[in-house]
Amino acid sequence: MFEFDPSLLILSKRSLEQVQPQFQKIDVLTEYNQQKMLRAFIGNKVSEAMFAPTTGYGHSDWGRETLERVFADVVDAEDALVRHHFSCGTHTLAVALFGVLRPGDTMLCVSGTPYDTIRPVIGITEDAPDAGSLKDFGICYDEVSLTLDGKLDFPAIEAKIRDVQPKMVYIQRSRGYSLRDTISVDEIAKIVSITKANSDAFVMVDNCYGEFTETKEPTSVGADLIAGSMIKNPGGGIAKTGGYIAGRAELVEKCANRLSTPGLGKEIGATLGNTRDLFMGLFQAPHIVGEALKTACFTAALFEQLGFKTTPRSDEERHDIIQAICLGNKENLIAFCRGLQKCSVIDSAVVPEPSAMPGYDCDVIMAGGSFTNGSTIELSADAPLREPFAVWFQGSLNFHSAKPAVLSAAQAVLDEMQKKEG
Ligand SMILES: *Cc1c(COP(=O)(O)O)cnc(C)c1O
Repeated sequence: MFEFDPSLLILSKRSLEQVQPQFQKIDVLTEYNQQKMLRAFIGNKVSEAMFAPTTGYGHSDWGRETLERVFADVVDAEDALVRHHFSCGTHTLAVALFGVLRPGDTMLCVSGTPYDTIRPVIGITEDAPDAGSLKDFGICYDEVSLTLDGKLDFPAIEAKIRDVQPKMVYIQRSRGYSLRDTISVDEIAKIVSITKANSDAFVMVDNCYGEFTETKEPTSVGADLIAGSMIKNPGGGIAKTGGYIAGRAELVEKCANRLSTPGLGKEIGATLGNTRDLFMGLFQAPHIVGEALKTACFTAALFEQLGFKTTPRSDEERHDIIQAICLGNKENLIAFCRGLQKCSVIDSAVVPEPSAMPGYDCDVIMAGGSFTNGSTIELSADAPLREPFAVWFQGSLNFHSAKPAVLSAAQAVLDEMQKKEG
């Protein structure tokens, strides 16, 4: 159906055979999480009448309240906020941070420096004085670096928690634009127990890209608060916008006070007809995450066959949907993104160009043809054009359509390499 070199098709077949044990594990995971989801819908008696839009204040929105109950149940939390009013993941995380931290408190990040867009929220970038960051409101920030090989430094974390006595211990589960390992739910459990043994701090997790990649969520193992984006994993490719916060009821209430106001909290927020999408996306999420995991795993295997370094490797256990591939040079990154774009379901005629991006010291190239603008549970890739010349690749609503797109990316990289040799 698509034109690829016969030699690439042989590698593709071999890669697919090689990842069968991983695919079987992903199927087991997906079935478990999908049935847990179904049970939460049944347990909360979700009905069609709940999809009715509310307007104005959105008082007594039965659908919104039930959606939040279902979400809380499925991530083993006491309560949740699931709202289209959150404009992105960063906004959601910022609401959670401002919601629970107070002047004089310390936020201690134990997974190295947080994701690029969170830095201005904390106030650790120099270019935004008096922008309204946590720092501007007298909230202190400290961090524990990862070890040189990119792992959590447990002894240093314990020492720092004892020393600083933070209000919040903050963990970023996924890797962002770095090549460190993703943090597993087991590792998060370990940080929770270190935190509770040495302080009164609560634990908050930036859960972006981690949802439904394991049978447990951070809140299942004692994390007090998690937050993420509904146009990533938990929106199942159907939610058009939004974010979620889940965890201990008392903390979720504080976050609701920040999103709306003290006194109104969770009680207001018109849904305007978004409830059906949010329910349906959440319901589909475990399955879609399974498809994204299969796509990542196959892509890793294929590029390993082609001789590139991947992280995680195709046979490694996964804790998020991100696949990084070190492609060695700028030309290969551009070729990869253009090859992927050419075979995307939306905007296949667009040719990605590297360009400057706020917050980066170099040009960035992105590929992504998605139904929802910027959605990264849909097939997408981005690459800053700098050492180590890696592309970060994620998503796909289904493996079967992602496979030719991944082959198209591989073909483009092969053609680029041949051009250079030739
Ligand atoms: C995507 C992401 C965010 C939030 O980003 P938005 O683009 O604002 O949704 C935060 N942290 C991590 C690790 C992420 O991957």
